[in-house]
Amino acid sequence: IFNVGFDRQGTAVQVRFQKGGRSDLGPELDAIKAKRPLVLTTPEQVDQGEALLDTLAGRAAGLYTRATMHTPVDITRDALETVKKSKADCVIAIGGGSTIGLGKAIAYHTDLPQIVLPTTYAGSEATPVLGQTENGVKSTLKSERVQPEAILYDAELVRSLPVPMSVTSGLNAMAHAVEALYARDANRLSSELALSGLRAFVTGLPVVVSSPDDLDAREDTLFGAWTCGAVLAQVGMALHHKLCHTLGGTLNLPHAATHAIILPHATAYNEAAAPEKLAPLAAILGSDTAGGGLFDFAGKLGAPTDLKSLGVAERDLDRVADLAVQNPYWNPVAIERRAIRALLQNAYDGVRPE
Ligand code: NAD
Repeated sequence: IFNVGFDRQGTAVQVRFQKGGRSDLGPELDAIKAKRPLVLTTPEQVDQGEALLDTLAGRAAGLYTRATMHTPVDITRDALETVKKSKADCVIAIGGGSTIGLGKAIAYHTDLPQIVLPTTYAGSEATPVLGQTENGVKSTLKSERVQPEAILYDAELVRSLPVPMSVTSGLNAMAHAVEALYARDANRLSSELALSGLRAFVTGLPVVVSSPDDLDAREDTLFGAWTCGAVLAQVGMALHHKLCHTLGGTLNLPHAATHAIILPHATAYNEAAAPEKLAPLAAILGSDTAGGGLFDFAGKLGAPTDLKSLGVAERDLDRVADLAVQNPYWNPVAIERRAIRALLQNAYDGVRPE
């Protein structure tokens, strides 16, 4: 399934996997030569931020706790004021994609280095991509300035991620890897990374569901988050990500759950044209097809499998289909309105894809 000739560019990033590693961030602070970090969290994760401040023993410039979904620019402006007043010389984001997004936005404006302690599986820490919203409009930019310099994966931090969110967040990460398998610019490294991430989740997520406190399973799935995030940074995404951005943007749906529901359907749509690229995933899932296998996997883990359950109204599907075929991303199969409308209907009803 691989093209063998390829070019690869990357920025050096310090990555550490260590359970409990957050009690000493010395290696990360030394690597970026920083002394006064500003810690970032969402309002829901203030406790984790305060606990981190304690470990920094007076070295921190402060705690900023207003990170929120979709990185609104007014929050970024507010956070930039705090950065200035506190004389911070780096930011530490402790959280999921929303908090990491705020850290990236601060870095984009100030070039301050970032340390990230991920607490979900979304994988933003491994990409040079920043999505922001202004007046309800989302835009995305790609810049080495926003790529975090250091990542600490501390499995103890994901233990508090509730099981339903762990499942949808894991499926969100897997979606990056699935699309990497059939990406136009896929190469041997990206495909190996993608399969490694998919394996980590297929074996690790069921253990997370049955034993959420199992730190080895938490660490394995964080490894999957890292590799799936790394492929997201390396190759182009296709139909699945386009559909999720359209659904999320127009209907304001929860990010990870939308990915979880759409993934089996987008995979099945593309499997018709690229069965050999998805065959390794079907094998990992122990299924005849990757799309059907993903649907069964998500269902067994208790993930939502229909858009109806997210409160989507059936009449919205026409509008989403119209938007999804505008400015389509490259995709292995032509993105046709009628077929996309049928895909959305199946996702709405929660029908297992063929
Ligand atoms: P999130 O960061 O919005 O977190 C969801 C909620 O869960 C928040 O309230 C958060 O505080 C809470 N939470 C997170 N971890 C927790 C934990 N361990 N324990 C308890 N509560 C916890 O969710 P997400 O899915 O990680 O991120 C979604 C956002 O990230 C989206 O805006 C998406 O566009 C962005 N994203 C960006 C990239 C990129 O490369 N730029 C990649 C993936 C996702």
